[in-house]
Amino acid sequence: MSQRIVNILKKKVSKKTWDHWFSTFEVKEVGEDVVVFSVGNLFIKDWLQTKYGGVISKAILEATGKQFPFEIVFKDTSEVKTVTKVEPKGSLIRKKPLMISNLNPEYTFDNFVVGKENKALYEVAKEVSSNPGRYNPFFIYGIPGLGKTHVLQSVAQLTMDLHPEKKVLYITSEQFMNGMIDAIKSNTMTQFREMYRRKADILLIDDIQFLIGKKGVQNEFFHTFNELHDAGKQLVICSDRDPIELNDFHNRLISRFQMGMVMEVHPPEANTRYQIAKKMAMQESVKLPDDVAKVLADNIDGNLRRLKGAIIKLIVQSSIYNEEIDLTLTDQILKSFHYAGGRLVPPPTPAEQLYKAIEGATGIAKAEINGTSRTKEIVLARQVFMYVLKQSYGRSVTEIANITDRKHSTVIHSIKKIEKSLLMRNESTRSFVNKIIEAVSAKSAVG
Ligand code: ADP
Ligand code: MG
Repeated sequence: MSQRIVNILKKKVSKKTWDHWFSTFEVKEVGEDVVVFSVGNLFIKDWLQTKYGGVISKAILEATGKQFPFEIVFKDTSEVKTVTKVEPKGSLIRKKPLMISNLNPEYTFDNFVVGKENKALYEVAKEVSSNPGRYNPFFIYGIPGLGKTHVLQSVAQLTMDLHPEKKVLYITSEQFMNGMIDAIKSNTMTQFREMYRRKADILLIDDIQFLIGKKGVQNEFFHTFNELHDAGKQLVICSDRDPIELNDFHNRLISRFQMGMVMEVHPPEANTRYQIAKKMAMQESVKLPDDVAKVLADNIDGNLRRLKGAIIKLIVQSSIYNEEIDLTLTDQILKSFHYAGGRLVPPPTPAEQLYKAIEGATGIAKAEINGTSRTKEIVLARQVFMYVLKQSYGRSVTEIANITDRKHSTVIHSIKKIEKSLLMRNESTRSFVNKIIEAVSAKSAVG
């Protein structure tokens, strides 16, 4: 069955599209009422959902005879997993299992552009990889999008290269918390503690501010920290704020964070942004012209994810329409980012656009769509909202459930309702759906 879906899909798109976008696309699971695909790249995942959602739905229908909803997931699992690192050539070191979780292969020191703002951070981070335990803990903080996760994972990867015998554990504090909750539920706290406190030689924990307001998890982490630290194991911690501003963290934990090396990551200056833009494009195998990189660096500051977003957009646009990556195209892309307070921010999300379109067409507002009213018109608007998000934007059932704050099964049911209605050639549903789709496409064409 899985192969059939893939074969049909392959016939529906050009070879170029297939090679370009579907090279890592696989059927992960054909479930009772949902098909799950996996891809090896987060960006491609979103792109496939947005752009090829319709074709994928059709292929499923043809292969199975049923209109299953589908989801695309990123192939790397979020759980902690044990892998065996491939031995470097000629090395006599035995293969040892390492624990890694979700490391992005692109987040390495080689791919990190060092401007003078972050030279010290870069040097210390490398030193931590070479000499684990020297700066302990190593605490990195700064506002989002400045490369903290990139540095943290670079430390993890370099440590694995330099010390293949060391067990490296990278985790977000959210994963730490979820692991702890699962362990409590399944009565396996002993194993949970064993894993963090005994098995890791270097523990890297991202976004520790997530634990604000979660006293129980903070407490567990405090003990983990102490055991590892006492045993001379390296800890590397990232946060969006200075340790002292981790309000509600216990003082004893904050003072632990401060006892090693605390460093702030600084926003890159224009010239560094220029180099970063070039590097980001190189990672997608594209050489960015100098003038384009300069315009991007001059116009997009702050969060580097926006810079990355603009570059990806440029690359996609140029490959789809066979256009040069030049200043004209760059200008277009920059315009499609709306200005807000002098800074560039991404355009409204599809969900926001849809709320607007529905309100324009029916007067039914966002609050009513997400509310609990069972009035016929509102129920219909709600179902159409979910249907269009799925069909036109390829949003997954899980995402829609989150957006509308409804159960998975309710979302599936709502979407099926509209599908059925369209299948039965219900004229008023059809024209309603079309009207909404037209309204949002007109908006995005302008934007
Ligand atoms: P944070 O964790 O601080 O929110 P990330 O590490 O996710 O930020 O960085 C955002 C994006 O910017 C990533 O794609 C990252 O690779 C890139 N990036 C950040 N700093 C640099 C740098 N100095 N050189 C190259 N890329 C960078
Ligand atoms: Mg981060």
